[in-house]
Amino acid sequence: MSAPNKSYDPVEVEALKPAEIERMRDEAVAAFAAAGDLEALAHAKTAHAGGTSPLSLANREIGALPPQAKAEAGKRVGQARGAVNKALAARQVELEAERDTRVLVEEAVDVTLPYDRVPAGARHPLTTLMERIADIFTAMGYAVADGPEVEAEWYNFDALNFVPDHPARQMQDTFFVQGPDGTSGDESGVVLRTHTSPVQARAMLDREPPVYVICPGRVYRTDELDATHTPVFHQVELLAVDEGLTMADLKGTLDHMVQELFGGEGMKTRLRPNFFPFTEPSAEMDMVCYVCRGESVGNPDRPCRTCGSEGWIELGGCGMVNPKVLVACGVDPEKYSGFAFGFGIERMLMFRHNVEDMRDMVEGDVRFTRPFGMEI
Ligand SMILES: [Zn+2]
Repeated sequence: MSAPNKSYDPVEVEALKPAEIERMRDEAVAAFAAAGDLEALAHAKTAHAGGTSPLSLANREIGALPPQAKAEAGKRVGQARGAVNKALAARQVELEAERDTRVLVEEAVDVTLPYDRVPAGARHPLTTLMERIADIFTAMGYAVADGPEVEAEWYNFDALNFVPDHPARQMQDTFFVQGPDGTSGDESGVVLRTHTSPVQARAMLDREPPVYVICPGRVYRTDELDATHTPVFHQVELLAVDEGLTMADLKGTLDHMVQELFGGEGMKTRLRPNFFPFTEPSAEMDMVCYVCRGESVGNPDRPCRTCGSEGWIELGGCGMVNPKVLVACGVDPEKYSGFAFGFGIERMLMFRHNVEDMRDMVEGDVRFTRPFGMEI
């Protein structure tokens, strides 16, 4: 700041010459106009309207003028600063409006864009089918039970009335983890379970009757992987133990299951006599073909690929629990009876969804699983 000088003439002070004031004002207004965005405008504001801007400095010079010169110089500088602040405010409004418009455009949500550009994968159809079957039975009051996949031979065979020389117990049919150890007197080996039936034995031993359980799970047999076989597959087994259960209860339960799974009126089952060690009497269970509902039988004009025009599809084995199995599992056969039913999930998936090659189910290719959707 200049020292007070009583003989100061504002016209003579360089910073307060009218032309200089105008130049400062015009430079400021031009700088604001040139600012392309709010950040540039903030810089221009500091340079041209801040405390150290030329006009502010000039304003301080006024104080050093003699009184008679102050008014005129003050008016001139004040008008210039007023014009500068007005230009600044106007540009501020302009640039804020531009920014708001730009943000609206840039941040607009395009609702037509695909929302799933990162593939979500898919649950395996074997899993969803097993859960769906379990849902049908839990709705009827059954509990889901599970057990170990590496199982004592006793649970897998002996408790289920498989005689010691039953062919299923041979090494060529069953994966043995550990054979029976004759030297230690341990007659029971360890196997990868060949069916989910040992879970039934465990359920009867663990629970007091009545027992209503469904046992979905993975089982193992020494099959080569091909279009119709796999060494690892899935079963669902059903066990009901209660007072007074009969084959009629079993039949009604199976009819309900196929109606829930395949939908609609006319879905029913039939039983054909068979033999299984753990049920007596035993039966193969067929369900009516869910595609032609039996109408392809004897009707060459309407052949059915699903059932081969036979009208029925074989689903699995069932029967009344053998009293010997009840005894082995601590259930009094004089008081209680039970029924059991089991079937393969892979096979059901094949005919339910026209899957022709079982290898597709185990290869883990998401292109196979995705069309089944994300059934929850
Ligand atoms: Zn059919």
